[in-house]
Amino acid sequence: MKYVLVTGGVVSGLGKGVTASSIGLLLKACGLRVTSIKIDPYLNTDAGTMSPFEHGEVFVLDDGGEVDLDLGNYERFLDIKLTRDNNITTGKIYQSVLDSERKGDYLGKTVQVVPHITDAIQKWIERVALIPVDGKEGPADVCVIELGGTIGDIESMPFIEALGQFSYHVGPGNFCLIHVSLVPVLNVVGEQKTKPTQHSVRGLRGLGLTPNILACRSTKALEDNVKAKLSQFCHVAAENILTLYDVPNIWHIPLLLRDQKAHEAILKELNLIGEPDLQEWTARTRVYDILHEPVRIAMVGKYTGLSDSYLSVLKALLHASVACWRKLVVEWVAAGDLEDVTAKEAPDVYKNAWDLLKGSDGVLVPGGFGDRGVQGKILAAKYARENKVPFLGVCLGMQIAVIEFARSVLGLHDANSTEFDPETSHPCVIFMPEGSKTHMGGTMRLGSRRTYFKVPNCKSAKLYNNDSFVDERHRHRYEVNPNMVQQFENAGLSFVGRDETGQRMEIIELPSHPYFVGAQFHPEFKSRPGKPSALFLGLIAAASGQLDAVLQNYGHASKLLPNGIGNGKPTVKTYQNGNAIKSSNGSLNGVYSNGNGAHH
Ligand code: GLN
Repeated sequence: MKYVLVTGGVVSGLGKGVTASSIGLLLKACGLRVTSIKIDPYLNTDAGTMSPFEHGEVFVLDDGGEVDLDLGNYERFLDIKLTRDNNITTGKIYQSVLDSERKGDYLGKTVQVVPHITDAIQKWIERVALIPVDGKEGPADVCVIELGGTIGDIESMPFIEALGQFSYHVGPGNFCLIHVSLVPVLNVVGEQKTKPTQHSVRGLRGLGLTPNILACRSTKALEDNVKAKLSQFCHVAAENILTLYDVPNIWHIPLLLRDQKAHEAILKELNLIGEPDLQEWTARTRVYDILHEPVRIAMVGKYTGLSDSYLSVLKALLHASVACWRKLVVEWVAAGDLEDVTAKEAPDVYKNAWDLLKGSDGVLVPGGFGDRGVQGKILAAKYARENKVPFLGVCLGMQIAVIEFARSVLGLHDANSTEFDPETSHPCVIFMPEGSKTHMGGTMRLGSRRTYFKVPNCKSAKLYNNDSFVDERHRHRYEVNPNMVQQFENAGLSFVGRDETGQRMEIIELPSHPYFVGAQFHPEFKSRPGKPSALFLGLIAAASGQLDAVLQNYGHASKLLPNGIGNGKPTVKTYQNGNAIKSSNGSLNGVYSNGNGAHH
């Protein structure tokens, strides 16, 4: 096993996760099998208890692990399936050491950070690196390890110490350290400043780690004299200094690294050789760059201004949009703004929210917890249902669609989820734990579960390739009340997908509507750039007038791509001076939006 460690210096938010995923992709394109580990030095055992509005979304894995959103980037870029153990936190390490201590495993010794915590970290990495994550047998060739936080943080010290020992232990030729840093440009003189990077490399060395490669974030490519200076002061060969300058979207990063021959530098450190084949990736990135016809999707959520809270949903929308040759425009609509109270308190805000909703080609109500904005989400679902606007409800979004249907169509005015109104006389969404009913902790239905299609020719079955079942990821407590299903079906709401017992409703559809679909699971977690999630593809296809073509093609959009792109010879872009491609109209991360979802 070979290891690539990615650390970060100077400031946080440099895009270390995307860089590490891109490096993984580049190595994979060289024919290597790649796995990855994300280290989060915080004390929480996992991300499950952390607010998505503070920390970004909680990503869910097949095994039910609730992990940092960076694992989503790895899964998407490398098309792999990680396990909960691929996310290491301080909490997990200490918990394992303390458990061993209680069992008496340390035989009377004093238990200390060095060597006990640091040993536990190294053993964890070695064990997890061996788990196959690409569906093949046997361990991967390379494990990319990303150390969260910034060099110098108190919390990451035990990890740095452990990784220093680890690099020594695996030996040269098996370990490559890439340090991601910042080279700021001072506006007045336009000079690229190397001092912050010098300091952070010095810090790294002081802690026993020697960088092999520097990946410098800067607005433009580094000038030769700047590289020479960094090389001299940081003791890194000039050809091992890469610039991650601003690109229109993150799909460019692997190409940017390839064009700077990052693979050669990394493979040399690892005693490997290989040439990357990024044809398909390049072609898709080209398509993404030239999209101009918009598809407007209203995201009706608990708006808080941090778009990372819905990262996988945005990515899934993007994958589907690129497959349909549409430029994704996300209209952030704060659910609460659609409510009657807002009409009274802030009529302008209310009008604006409704204008955005009505100007959209499709409506998405994402997952969520708690009752804030529920009424607004119900109004959005009602609007989409009645006006035949394509709609996708994810998890809470599906429950919302069911509540709306119960109220408007079945006439059950107080129908609700017991999550929001435990006393409702028409509980159409109820708490259905898989385990204990009384024990609240760990009662979430988490991870991969199977959905069987009950109605073979429905839209969602077709989108899923007309397979008889599909495995998707879950994260919820409440479910549609099975006792009310017949009543709903009699009124035209079809429960087309269910679990193996037939008791848990997984997918709803309104056959009489162009595209009105809800899923109890989160399809966004398994969407990939080249394999958009079926239900998201359905939404975007419906919103851009292409649903029939996609359905005829059993959920594949590829035939929509004009010949020549996707299978023809891609135009390889070379990046020079950092200005080969310019971002045109304020896009960030390639997702265009009304600016309500304040991007960072
Ligand atoms: N709050 C709902 C539940 O627990 C939905 C959860 C979600 O959307 N992830 O069932």
